[in-house]
Amino acid sequence: MALRRFKDAARRVYQRGLDLLYPRGACCLICGHPRLASAQDCLCEACREALKAYRVPPQACERCLSPVEKGKPCAFCRSEAMRSIERVFSPYVYGSPVRSLIHAFKFTACGEALPLLVSPMLDSLKIRDFDCVTPVPLHPKRLRQRGFNQALLLGQSLSKETGIPLAPLLLRTRYRRPQSRTPLRSRARNVQDAFSCPSSAKGLRVLLLDDVRTSGATAGACAKALMAAGAQSVSLLTCSVVYRRPAR
Ligand SMILES: [Zn+2]
Ligand SMILES: [Zn+2]
Repeated sequence: MALRRFKDAARRVYQRGLDLLYPRGACCLICGHPRLASAQDCLCEACREALKAYRVPPQACERCLSPVEKGKPCAFCRSEAMRSIERVFSPYVYGSPVRSLIHAFKFTACGEALPLLVSPMLDSLKIRDFDCVTPVPLHPKRLRQRGFNQALLLGQSLSKETGIPLAPLLLRTRYRRPQSRTPLRSRARNVQDAFSCPSSAKGLRVLLLDDVRTSGATAGACAKALMAAGAQSVSLLTCSVVYRRPAR
């Protein structure tokens, strides 16, 4: 009994020491471990290093960022998803640390995660002559559930940094189950006609914005709606791309 009390007291002292060193809430956004608290430093050293390994490799397809074999044409570029998309820009390949960072931003509206995503996204944006930044919209029902649209938050920040005006041109007109819970092969059908562009996009070079490109079906459907509304071109900027070959 005395031993247990001693252990509890020791644990409390240890915890108090940790709290002093690492104020509560000041945890790494990726692994959750306490970090040296500083307003600018939201990642621990190990996670910062781990993120570097998830940069899109230079040998990826220049247009769509998918893996390509030397000398062979890119399969993803010829897919339906890329039909209306001119180019894809993204800093990261989707994987564990990137997923955690996006998760912190997407599901907890964590303000600290926003610059950690926007800054590398800006670095990846090789071309900047766009007329507007257009976020992929959420359906009003999903917006009510989540409280904010992550692509809109990214768009606001990117617009501020680049000076490219923000233009939320798209509407999500159909409520469908989330793409993340839809089998890959059904994703194109799941978002078919889910987006509309009610105002004119005539002659606009649009930079479409989303958090992750997986099958490309969502971005493809958005780009199709923008092109139908007269857009000159649509390119896509995301926080990360899933790095794999499309199903043939
Ligand atoms: Zn960490
Ligand atoms: Zn490609």
